[in-house]
Amino acid sequence: MKTAIHARLPIRARLRAHPLFPAATLALTLPLACAPPADEPDQGVEVSHTEVADGIYQLNAGSHNAFLVDTDGGVVAFDPISVEAAAGLAVAIRSAAPGKPLAAIVYSHSDADHATGASVLQQAFEGDAPIIAQERALPIITAGGDPNLPPPDLTFADNLTLRFGGRAIELHYLGPSHTDNLLVAFVPDQRVLFAVDFVSNDRVGYRDLPGWHFDELYVALDRLMEIPFETVVFGHGAVGDRSTIDRQLAYYADLRDAVQEAIDQGLTEEEAMEQVRLDDYAHWGQYEAWFPMNVGAVYRWLAGAST
Ligand SMILES: [Zn+2]
Repeated sequence: MKTAIHARLPIRARLRAHPLFPAATLALTLPLACAPPADEPDQGVEVSHTEVADGIYQLNAGSHNAFLVDTDGGVVAFDPISVEAAAGLAVAIRSAAPGKPLAAIVYSHSDADHATGASVLQQAFEGDAPIIAQERALPIITAGGDPNLPPPDLTFADNLTLRFGGRAIELHYLGPSHTDNLLVAFVPDQRVLFAVDFVSNDRVGYRDLPGWHFDELYVALDRLMEIPFETVVFGHGAVGDRSTIDRQLAYYADLRDAVQEAIDQGLTEEEAMEQVRLDDYAHWGQYEAWFPMNVGAVYRWLAGAST
């Protein structure tokens, strides 16, 4: 099914009218010329850009990364991060892709530390870029009511392929993992993936894995590996490749097995947090600070308590 959409505001309503939308291909027509605004915000986080493949960039704003895909039809920006970072992102985007309009903003998921700031980015590019997210992000963001985190204009259920200037950008929802609305982006012509929060580059999971859906996480990870990516830009940390994701999957499997063993031995959650170690990962980022919390979270999941 192919859906061509030329009007901006009714997008959400029109897409919801399509029962077969998960397989839809979306084409947005946008003006190619877009004059830079006269009054760009002058306060912001300094953002550096690194071209990881032809026209594909990691934009680093301290602890968080955004993702940028340049096309002949404009640039697509993933995750404005914050009000301050978004101002820096606008500068970095202009530096990476001079003169290009902002074709769309995509939220990797609804968490405020990745999705905030879209309004700043829109204003910096004259306020017209549609915001895209997985459909479950919409009620969460709407309920939040943050003017700096505007709700998406366009949502999808399972998969959506954006096409700008002949370049395809696939958005895949792999099921609940970290939050229930996290998507990954894949640019097939360069086999580059953008993945946030549920996988990292040689770093243990964030604290006690808040918002994680463990039953579905391992399914989502299997689905992730079905995507033929070669390079990975992460929401946090350095650029990686397929082997980086392989190591992450091994970590989650080893973590689960080690905690299950602790449960089988009769350890309490506190004892497991103290005693379970995975020396193979001791050199990973945040191991000392967060690994025991990872153990506690997985313990509560495996023991059947709510996490
Ligand atoms: Zn998150």
